[in-house]
Amino acid sequence: MERRAKLYPLAPGVTCIDDAGDSVCYVVCGSERAAVIDTVNGMEDLHAVVREITDLPLVVINTHGHCDHVWGNTFFDEAYIHPDDIALHNHHFAMRKDTMLDQAEQYGATREEMQAFIDAQPCPLKPICEGEIIDLGGRSLEVIRITGHTQGSIALLDRTAGFLYSGDAINGQIWLQLPESAKLTTYLDSLNALDAYRPYFTELHTGHNVEGVPAAYIDEMKAAISRIIETRGAGDEDFAWFGGTAKRHFMRENTWVLYTPDKL
Ligand SMILES: [Zn+2]
Repeated sequence: MERRAKLYPLAPGVTCIDDAGDSVCYVVCGSERAAVIDTVNGMEDLHAVVREITDLPLVVINTHGHCDHVWGNTFFDEAYIHPDDIALHNHHFAMRKDTMLDQAEQYGATREEMQAFIDAQPCPLKPICEGEIIDLGGRSLEVIRITGHTQGSIALLDRTAGFLYSGDAINGQIWLQLPESAKLTTYLDSLNALDAYRPYFTELHTGHNVEGVPAAYIDEMKAAISRIIETRGAGDEDFAWFGGTAKRHFMRENTWVLYTPDKL
């Protein structure tokens, strides 16, 4: 299998790892430990990739339980995740054997390589909750819950870099149409609660893009969610995605909110 990971230094001590364009994760280094924020698809040895960046002891944190953010947990000793996403994590690991073997060619892997990937076991999970602080030595990450995309989605605030690592909780095409997604009013409450942290970050770094997004994007997202709630989704188009049909609210080019009417 060809190498998937590409490394992008973003700021002193911060590297983004792009997993072949499928999703991204981050390595944030302090003086004593390094955090690995999400573990992407796990099609190649992410631990070895991280070791190209740092030799520090590692703390692995999942922003939420979806496969493209947790499957690489297999290469680590343990990972932190919000308790409300543990069942989702387990469900997505269980999906591997039903969905992935037939996709070997698509990933440029042999069937043997894909079988080894399927057979790899997830690492033990440890709970992490809102308000906890992960001390990396001279820099810390603060856990902020953003219920919306999933019930247990978290973001991590890095005041040193001025970054909020938001996973899929805030990104360019927010998915709120999933069974595990919260109501739109709950998501709006989560976004409003971020106001207290806004002085401490200037950029969002999401779960699917190497480039950062200005923090003001949160205001655009709040306005879009408010409008959907107020209008009951009037004018929003039907949109077919691989899991069914959702409503799609257009924000601007390449930027949408996906939801289902039961989330209103
Ligand atoms: Zn997700």
